[in-house]
Amino acid sequence: MTPPKRILFIMSDTGGGHRAAAEAIRDALIAKHGAEAIDAPFLDGFRVSRFPMNYMPEFYPWIVNHSKASWGLGYKLSNSKRRAAFFSATMYLTNGDRFRKFFRAQRFDVVVSVHSVLTRPTLRALRSLEQRPPYITVVTDLVSTHHFWYDRRTERCLVPTQAAYERGLASGLKPEQLRVTGLPVHPRFTQALRGKAAARAELDWTGDAPIVLMVAGGDGMGPLYETAQAIDALGLNCQLAIIAGKNAALKARLEAASWQLPTRIYGFVRNMPTLMEAADILVTKAGPATITEAAIAGLPMILFDAIPGQEEGNVTYVVDNRAGEYAPSPSLVAETVRRWLAEGPQALAERAARARAIANPNAVWDIADEIWAWADHAPIINPRRQRRRSDSVRRR
Ligand code: UDP
Repeated sequence: MTPPKRILFIMSDTGGGHRAAAEAIRDALIAKHGAEAIDAPFLDGFRVSRFPMNYMPEFYPWIVNHSKASWGLGYKLSNSKRRAAFFSATMYLTNGDRFRKFFRAQRFDVVVSVHSVLTRPTLRALRSLEQRPPYITVVTDLVSTHHFWYDRRTERCLVPTQAAYERGLASGLKPEQLRVTGLPVHPRFTQALRGKAAARAELDWTGDAPIVLMVAGGDGMGPLYETAQAIDALGLNCQLAIIAGKNAALKARLEAASWQLPTRIYGFVRNMPTLMEAADILVTKAGPATITEAAIAGLPMILFDAIPGQEEGNVTYVVDNRAGEYAPSPSLVAETVRRWLAEGPQALAERAARARAIANPNAVWDIADEIWAWADHAPIINPRRQRRRSDSVRRR
C-alpha cells in the first residue's frame, strides 16, 4: 500500500478564517483521494512560538476589538517590502529554533501556509534543512494583502483575486509562481445549498418577512449589538438572525436585550451555508471568508465594519462589484436595510445575483489539485546546506 501523503497546514486560530481555509482544502483533498491517502496535520505557528506570540489567538480578537486604531497602524507600518522582511526576521530570530525543531522531527511531502505572518519564518526554518518539501502559500486575505504573504522562495502562491496577484508581483514574486484561484470555501458549503425554502424549513424559520442575518467573523467583533439594535428600532418588516460567534459576552448581551422584531440569537454556528441560504440580507464585518461564502450563497451584503489594513480592500471589492454596500455605523446599516427592503423583492433578487457573480465555488478544488500535484514533487535541495555538508565531509 502506498503511504499517505503528508501535507502540513500552517495556520493559527487568529480569527476563524485560517482554520476554515485549511479544513476546506484538507477535506477537498480527502473527498478526491480518500482519507487513507492523506495525513494532513495542522500546525498553529503561534501556539508553538514563545511568549507573547503563543497567546496571539487570544490577543488577536482583543486587540482588534479594543485597539482597532493601533492594530491598523501596526499593519500599515509593517506593510512595506523591507519592513515586512524585518518583522519576519525578528519573528524568526525569536522562534526559528522551535520551527526548525518541529521540521527536523517530521517529514512532509508538501507544506501549505494559510497564514500571512507565519509564512516567511516557517519557510526560512525549512530552508535551513538540507532538503525540504515544496512550500505553497494560499493567501486568505482577499484584496489588501500584506507583504508578509509573499516570499520569493515559495514554490507557488495561490491568491484569491487579481488585486492580490498584482500585489504578489509588486512584492517580488514571478508570474509563474502566482495563480488566481479564488478563496477556498469548504466543499460542504456548496453541497449544503438546497434552496431557500428547504433551508428555512430546516432552521424552523417561519413567516414570510425577509431575514437579515448578522455576523461579525468567528469571534463576534465590533459593534454587532449596537447595529442589531439600530435595525430593530426602525420596526421594519423583517426578522433578525444574529450570530455572536465565539463571543460569549456578546451572546449574553443580545439574549438579555428586548427585541420588537422576531429575533433569533446564535452562538458559534456550524451550519453557515443553511443560514446564509435562508437569509435575504447579510450584515457583516468585511471578513474574507464570510464575503466569499455569502457570494456563493447569493446573499447581498451590507458591510458595517472592516479590520483596518487587511480588510479595507474587501470593502472596495464588494462595493465595486456591486455585491453589497458599505455602511460604517449602526444607523447607516439600519437605513440601508430599510432602503433595500423598500426597493422590493425584485431589486433584492438583483442584488443577490450580483453577489453570486463574484463567487468562485471551484477555488477549493483547484487549490487541492495544485497541492496534490506538488506532494509528488521531489524534495527541494538546499544547495548551500549540501555544499556545507560535503565541505565538512571532505575536511574529515
Ligand atoms: N463562522 C462560523 N460560525 C460562526 C461564525 C463564523 O463557522 O458562528 C465562520 C464563517 O462562516 C467564516 C469564518 O468563520 O468561514 C469567519 O472568517 P472571516 O474571514 O469572515 O472573519 P474572521 O473570523 O477570520 O475575522
